[in-house]
Amino acid sequence: MTIDQQRLPGQNIHAGEIPEEKWFHGDDLCDCTFQRMGYWTNAHLARTVRVRVCCIWAKLYAQFPELVQEIPAWFDDNEKQYKIEPLPWNSEDEDMPAALWHRQLAVETGLALWQVRQLYADQEPPKKVVPHGR
Ligand SMILES: [Zn+2]
Repeated sequence: MTIDQQRLPGQNIHAGEIPEEKWFHGDDLCDCTFQRMGYWTNAHLARTVRVRVCCIWAKLYAQFPELVQEIPAWFDDNEKQYKIEPLPWNSEDEDMPAALWHRQLAVETGLALWQVRQLYADQEPPKKVVPHGR
């Protein structure tokens, strides 16, 4: 499959062109649950490769479903057990990234990501938590 046949959101790369869109972790341009990007650039070669590894993995998962376990829960390392409820945002360092928030809302509501993006387009993700005493 060529890049042109894939036509990922935001992708428009042809030989000799430099894409305006920069893929990065959390860009929310695909519906993969766990976005993963590969990025290599080399000044001496004047070449850069960006790879939506998550999207490639999704194609592999479809070819080998017997080798994939998608678990509707997260593993709590402290309590050594799976939990089915998403953990509310609790970072004291940063606001919740929009891409993560959209995926959390999709899990909580059962809506598709595209629906969540539309419904919450005018709302901000949860802010960082301010600890008591500050
Ligand atoms: Zn992806």
